[in-house]
Amino acid sequence: MESGTVASGVGAGRSGPQRPAGESARATAAASGVTGLLRVPVPVNEPVRSYAPGSPEREELKSRLAEMAESEADIPIVIGGEEIRTGDTGQVVMPHDHQHVLARFHRAGADEARAAIEAARAAWSEWSAWDWQERAAVFLRAADLLAGPWRATVNAATMLGQSKTAHQAEIDSACELVDFWRFNARFAAEIYENQPSSSPGMWNQTDYRPLEGFVLAINPFNFTSIAGNLPTAPALMGNVVIWKPATVSLLSSYYVMRVLQEAGLPAGVINFVPGPSRVVTGPLFESPALAGIHFTGSTGVFQTLWKNVSDNLENYRTYPRVVGETGGKDFIVAHESADPAALAVAIARGGFEYQGQKCSAVSRVYVPDTLWDDVRERVLAIMEDIEVGDPTDFRIFMGAVIDEEAYDKITSYIEYARESDDLEILSGGGASDVEGWFIQPTLILSKDPRSRLMCEEIFGPVVTLHVYDADRWTETLERVDDTSPYGLTGAVFARDRAAVREALSRLRNAAGNFYVNDKPTGAVVGQQPFGGARASGTNDKAGSRLNLLRWVSPRSIKETFAPPTDWRYPFMKEK
Ligand code: NAD
Repeated sequence: MESGTVASGVGAGRSGPQRPAGESARATAAASGVTGLLRVPVPVNEPVRSYAPGSPEREELKSRLAEMAESEADIPIVIGGEEIRTGDTGQVVMPHDHQHVLARFHRAGADEARAAIEAARAAWSEWSAWDWQERAAVFLRAADLLAGPWRATVNAATMLGQSKTAHQAEIDSACELVDFWRFNARFAAEIYENQPSSSPGMWNQTDYRPLEGFVLAINPFNFTSIAGNLPTAPALMGNVVIWKPATVSLLSSYYVMRVLQEAGLPAGVINFVPGPSRVVTGPLFESPALAGIHFTGSTGVFQTLWKNVSDNLENYRTYPRVVGETGGKDFIVAHESADPAALAVAIARGGFEYQGQKCSAVSRVYVPDTLWDDVRERVLAIMEDIEVGDPTDFRIFMGAVIDEEAYDKITSYIEYARESDDLEILSGGGASDVEGWFIQPTLILSKDPRSRLMCEEIFGPVVTLHVYDADRWTETLERVDDTSPYGLTGAVFARDRAAVREALSRLRNAAGNFYVNDKPTGAVVGQQPFGGARASGTNDKAGSRLNLLRWVSPRSIKETFAPPTDWRYPFMKEK
């Protein structure tokens, strides 16, 4: 990988239509000539802006929201840098005002999927051979464009299209995606730096090759940052990508694609192919060039994708890397030494922010009977103050859930609770889909620690809580561990250190992201690499070196400087 030589400054200062990787490289091959073991700038987490009254960012965001709400975007397919409009269109609406059409998008079909394979293959030979610093420069430039001139646009698209508040959009579509791009460049450099030792007379090297083929990236609706990271993490490592975005969150995904184009990403490196998922992905699974899947979404869909890969296994040129971060049934378990005020805030923020539609959202809670009255009073008081509505009204804490299907699924769990003798709705339970898909924050008491609502992922603003006998702490930890099939996030609240230690130990495999006296949401890139095992995924930790390692296929090179010229070994000689 020794690439201290920078061949060009390709694309880093250019916007406009994408050029092929080859053309870009040729156009600027002689331009730079910079020689040195270059270091990626040390990343720091992008500061979260407050959007407080009177702040400049608030004014800018509000005016972008107004402009975007008044217009209807036209979202094309982007293949090989070309915008394609099939004329077979669908709509993107506001979840909190579902008659309001934000955008029309052009659906790709099997033909476009096959064209994307060709475009990706055409880009592969040049892009996979680019110096890694050149690739990193594209994504570092994208990070600065997003942090600066594109910030209000991508945040506004996330607020309107995914029903996020200004704060939830800011921490997702601005800060987390900027962090992914900046930190991943640094993590890539750390991977490349990792070289083997060499005995005298030789030089051993590791060549971190991109995968031979294309990577299929498929994102969920709930995080713009995840949508942006899934195609770009493999691309940073020299891979070409076909990105099948989620339909409901297409508006913000499209603007992320625009940022990448403006950052100088060569044509064909990431191909943006919205459309019906089975139709679009069918030809991709059948292609011998499928080299990897980078997925985030539900457990069931991930299992389908893995089966699709195994059904075609003998056709592939190389075994595809299958990386997926999936569902969760995230918990808080409180010890009797927990601080009730901190616990109540963690339940409310962790359970209801972004309408509980975070894979890490608190969904099941275990509270000792000795604390219950106090905690109950505090949580219910917070819930009374939470307002649900249009997130462009900045006083609102919760917007709408993403679509009708989500609304129906979540409300069916609430109905089930209403009819069950084991479950009692303590607060919330109301819902209306007249204007937007609104569901009140809902707290449900479960007598049975293994009721359906304590086990299944609901993915909405519903927290189910079980009150346990404070003397049964150890038994409760065992229950937390074996109640659900997932292993994504979890938290323990305790002031007693022995209780913290016991929870850390007994719940070691219950969560890939574990929190002590904090809510189990809000992982920050570079600080708490994110992902879980069991039914929650392959735990390849988005935004870390571990994830980037999945997108390279190392080649070991041994060069001997003065190879032997006599075939006989010394031991074969006569005395
Ligand atoms: P989803 O599984 O319904 O959809 C995810 C993506 O898969 C979408 O782009 C969808 O179009 C596509 N898809 C659906 N069926 C497909 C098929 N048969 N073939 C190919 N693609 C297909 O998930 P969602 O509702 O968008 O997101 C919510 C889920 O994502 C929750 O389960 C949540 O826990 C999970 N999630 C997990 C993480 C994590 O890091 N673990 C992060 C965010 C979301």
